[in-house]
Order: sequence, then C-alpha cells, then structure tokens
Amino acid sequence: MGKFIEMSDALMDYISKIGVREHAVQARCRAETAAMGRISGMQISPDEGAFLAMLTRLTGTRRYLEIGTFTGYSALSVALALPTDGRIDALDVSDEYVGRARTYWAEAGVADRITTHIAPALETLDGFLKAGRTGTYDFAFIDADKTNYAAYVERCHRLVRKGGLIAIDNTLWSGAVIDPANTSDDTRAIRALNDALAKDPRFDIALVAISDGITLLHVR
Ligand code: CA
Repeated sequence: MGKFIEMSDALMDYISKIGVREHAVQARCRAETAAMGRISGMQISPDEGAFLAMLTRLTGTRRYLEIGTFTGYSALSVALALPTDGRIDALDVSDEYVGRARTYWAEAGVADRITTHIAPALETLDGFLKAGRTGTYDFAFIDADKTNYAAYVERCHRLVRKGGLIAIDNTLWSGAVIDPANTSDDTRAIRALNDALAKDPRFDIALVAISDGITLLHVR
C-alpha cells in the first residue's frame, strides 16, 4: 500500500453514496448535465459539492461569490447550505448554461438567494469593487477560465472579508502542473498561480486533492 490511495470509479461511487447527501434536484442537475456530453466535465463532482456546502456551514457564510456557474450545481450546493438570509452572486458568460441552472435553483426553492451576472467576470468584479463591495463576501469560489485565475484571485482578495475563504478549482489540472512538457496556456496559468500562492503572505493555504485539486485560501 502506498501512502495515498488512488481514486477509482467504484470508490467514487462509494463516496457519492456514503459521504454525500445529494438533494433530488442536485441529482437531476448532475444527470441532465452529464447528458450534455463532454462539456459536462465542467461540472464539479458530488463530493466537491458536499465539500463546498460543508465549507459554507463552517465559515458561517452569508455572502457567496461564484466565478463560473455553468449549469448551477456548485451554486445549488452552497445555496442549500446557506442560512435563509444568505445571498449568492453567480458569475458566468453563458446565458444558455445559467438558464438551465435557474430551473434547478427554482425547483429546489433557492432561486431568491441567487443573483446571476452574465458578462465577462472581470467586468462584473470590477463593477462590484466600484460599487463599494470590498470586504463584503465571506466565501468566493473560482472555477472559470484558467488564464484569468490570477486576476480573479486579486479581485477576490479585495471582495472577500478578512478571515474569509477563497476556493480555487482545478489547481492540479489533471496532474499537468508537474508535467514540464505540458506548456498549454491553461497549464502555465495554473502553474504560475500555484507557484505565486505558495509564498503569498496575504493568505494561509491548503491545496487539497479533492476532484481535480482545490486550493483553499484563508484571507489574512
Ligand atoms: Ca472546475
């Protein structure tokens, strides 16, 4: 036995059954998104949804900022864990995908907690900063275009309160981050961000190997 277990489909199924309490609408969102084909890889996994929900509860989050909403599974996971006065700002560039997301949120009874912003996220985030939202979010989740990740982290550092949390998805990038032969724009962007965050004194850091890697940043 090695020091680390290797994930398999069977073990993932076990985790999904035993370690995740999925709402019926979450299950439907997942099934219908899977039917969309290859693009469904943009959806977070069920255990990651449960992890985000747990983080939401542990941080006492009332204001959640999401960069990259797709068909709504992650926002739904957090929305179901928020207190009734909790609010979500969900950012995405696709009205089509977010349109699907809205049907799930409505069906789960959490649509009134979620405001969508369909535009390039940097424009929306800079608008939030101009509107005086500095330090008003408890928790931000970044799961969008990788080449803008560093810019998203900078905005989130200002928008999330001290003591709040920033979570960044796909920071292991299928392991490509340690493959020097992989020099795609996305890989280089994630690798550079990881290298920078490793010594960034503004945050406490934990990169956890859930799904495709999630970097957790506690804002100092
Ligand atoms: Ca992702």
